[in-house]
Amino acid sequence: CLPVLIHYYLYRKASAKVLPTVLLIGPSGAGKTTLLTLFANGTPSATHTSQEPQTALCQLPSTTSSHEDRYRSEHDTSSRSQPKFLLVDTPGHGKLRHHALSSLTSPTALKGLVFVVDSAAVSSAAGLTETAEYLHDVLLLLQKRHTQSKTSRDPQAIPVLIAANKQDVFTSLPASLVKSKLEQEIAKARQTRSKGLLDSGIGMEDDGGDDEESNWLGQYGAKEFKFAQMEEHGVEVKVIGGNVRGEGEEKGRVEEWWAWIGENL
Ligand code: GDP
Repeated sequence: CLPVLIHYYLYRKASAKVLPTVLLIGPSGAGKTTLLTLFANGTPSATHTSQEPQTALCQLPSTTSSHEDRYRSEHDTSSRSQPKFLLVDTPGHGKLRHHALSSLTSPTALKGLVFVVDSAAVSSAAGLTETAEYLHDVLLLLQKRHTQSKTSRDPQAIPVLIAANKQDVFTSLPASLVKSKLEQEIAKARQTRSKGLLDSGIGMEDDGGDDEESNWLGQYGAKEFKFAQMEEHGVEVKVIGGNVRGEGEEKGRVEEWWAWIGENL
């Protein structure tokens, strides 16, 4: 029996290594944990505040096309490929964000990043600032990761889905507005951060490439920020609305998020 166990262990170890990973990130209360349970179990469940990253094994539903199926004919009756992947939920609480940010820089089979936004919270100035600053920092890390990997064989292009969640809440902003408000607010955050750097003298001397330009998100020196500016840094950003929970008996609306994951697995 022991050889079988060892074999099984080795198999698990090997297969665990190659599973693609999708990271959930975003401010606390945005709906990450609820989304994780919905994607893993098919139903959203009550959540508790997570202190540590949580991982769930998920499988693409049969109704969603995977990247592998993209040229598939409509008349093809064979079953679709339903790849499995790991969904990792990171704590959004300010003090615990190092978990989220360190997952970004550690080498995994990271296929994409879902930044969950509470579309009602971003209608307030404070909620918008908190979300935009966090998103700014996440995007800057991805930009730096791309810049640093340019010399290696494997340029790490990581797509980002901004999931404009809680569209069922009537004070929520529609996805298009969530997008433009975040772009405007990120432009402000970028301005303040670069001014802060100049004032503190960081980046004035040659300190290993940590200069003003490498700390500037998107198109260097541009007044406006647009998510499209991230493309030249290898980061494709999409904003798609939906809701994990539905009103009353109604189910959530997450099909388009599934579709995005399917395209990127
Ligand atoms: P996290 O801190 O990002 O993990 O957020 P949670 O998953 O704990 O969710 C925070 C709260 O928002 C919970 O009470 C959820 O039930 C609620 N919530 C999450 N998604 C939705 C949604 O789409 N619509 C509504 N109305 N509430 C949601």
